[in-house]
Amino acid sequence: MVPPTESPARPARKRKGRGEGQWALGYREPLNANERSKKDDNPLNVRQRIENIYAHRGFDSIDPGDLRGRFRWWGLYTQRAPGIPGARTGTIEPEELDDRYFMMRVRIDGGALTTEQLRVIGEVSQTYARDTADITDRQNVQLHWVRVEDVPTIWQKLESVGLSTTEACGDCPRVVLGSPVAGIAADEIIDGTPAIAEITERFIGDKSLSNLPRKFKSAISGSPRWDTVPEINDISLVGVVHPEHGPGYDLWVGGGLSTNPKLAVRLGAWVPQEEVADVWHGVVQIFRDYGYRRLRHRARIKFLIADWGAEKFRQVLEDEYLGRKLIDGPAPEAPSGHRDHLGVHEQVDGNYYVGVKSAAGRVSGSTLMEVAKAAERVGSKRVRTTVEQNLLVLDVAKSDVDSLTADLAKLGLHADPSPWRRGVMACTGIEFCKLAIVETKQRAIDLVADLEQRLADVQAGVTDPVTINLNGCPNACARTQVADIGLKGQMVPDGDGNQVEGFQVHLGGGLTVDAGFGRKIRGHKVTSAEVGPYVERLVRNYLDQREDGERFAQ
Ligand code: SF4
Repeated sequence: MVPPTESPARPARKRKGRGEGQWALGYREPLNANERSKKDDNPLNVRQRIENIYAHRGFDSIDPGDLRGRFRWWGLYTQRAPGIPGARTGTIEPEELDDRYFMMRVRIDGGALTTEQLRVIGEVSQTYARDTADITDRQNVQLHWVRVEDVPTIWQKLESVGLSTTEACGDCPRVVLGSPVAGIAADEIIDGTPAIAEITERFIGDKSLSNLPRKFKSAISGSPRWDTVPEINDISLVGVVHPEHGPGYDLWVGGGLSTNPKLAVRLGAWVPQEEVADVWHGVVQIFRDYGYRRLRHRARIKFLIADWGAEKFRQVLEDEYLGRKLIDGPAPEAPSGHRDHLGVHEQVDGNYYVGVKSAAGRVSGSTLMEVAKAAERVGSKRVRTTVEQNLLVLDVAKSDVDSLTADLAKLGLHADPSPWRRGVMACTGIEFCKLAIVETKQRAIDLVADLEQRLADVQAGVTDPVTINLNGCPNACARTQVADIGLKGQMVPDGDGNQVEGFQVHLGGGLTVDAGFGRKIRGHKVTSAEVGPYVERLVRNYLDQREDGERFAQ
């Protein structure tokens, strides 16, 4: 239970049966260890202990409840101890799996960074994280090899330039995704920047929202390209023009992947810019009060939406939380065009932005500092991260585009990548993630090089990126089910009957006009070593048999 000063008291209804642990129905006693931990101490309070105790006394002084629970609310997870094979994941004690180092997630709301912020992340990485940096598919940057002793200093450095790790993980409102071209795209319906800023200023770090049943993912974009994967967020505000009221947002709730994937549903409500933060707050409060807290694998808001339906959810939002009716609104038009923003594009102000592809999100602190330097050399002070693990440099004069593009290419960041490089994403995987069963990052990087050789002769014939998402386990952090080729890590038999690292294949998933989950086809399991030949066969079959206009995704 959140202390009375931290949680608005909603009238408790009469409880019946065992229930799902919903606070609004009177269930305040924790039904599992995670709920107990959050009730015992608001997870945000752990910051004081890190600053005052753990950073001075070291790793061994950390309370296990803080180490494996509350640290997450400040973007900190222990890394996977090196050398433990994926086959043992889930079968060994947590302390055996914990390394003495941390992954630290820096939240980048809207993917918006100044070059100064990028440089500070790079410096922190070089000094405190062995020069590691991964761009995640939620627009964050993750560092690795962080020691608890250095965490307060890292916070000081990040916060001095307006960055933070507050609620970057944990059962709370995580980073708010935003269009990387907000405010500069010629085809923009509405600029989501003010709404994201208001939400982060008012609500991130708010203890009344820091004990949710599970994580809460948000996306706000006024781009007609749906460039924040709105279909698979807990709440999404999608730009749309209301015939009477003008530009605003269509409200979607209940999307999410993992082991029980669901697409978000429309509530049929149009939200003006100035009401986004309040509506967002109402939805989060419904989740806090009515969300299921008995079983963690049934706790995301998607399960509540599935049981209630859109109509009841909207009614509760209006009647119990907003105290007014929402305006009915139209559905946004289905998007067209690529949402990854790669390449060179003109901005509304006549400048250009350059979108470049990273190697499955893997960069380094040094690379980020070089990107900042290259951007500043051509007079840019703004950089963006994307949900495809890409980077954009904004505000580039036409005359500087070529030299910037060349500078970025030298860093391994390409504005015109092959379809295979363009479409590949990977989660953290076994290198650092304690839940992983298989290697993903290096596997993805090797796969791109492999496919560029194998398929060099047909590359010109593939005009759309082929999305290949590598995931180290069923949790689908790199969106297994919505890729053309979704790869879910598991142990699989090789030709000799040995269990080796490999993947279950999900085929034909997609987002936007192709929104739907890939099918698991019986027998479609590949060893890690066979992924390249497998993808080659798929692509060649597609090219041989496709009909006019048929895309790979179909
Ligand atoms: Fe870790 Fe699994 Fe998520 Fe990959 S999908 S980052 S292995 S939890």
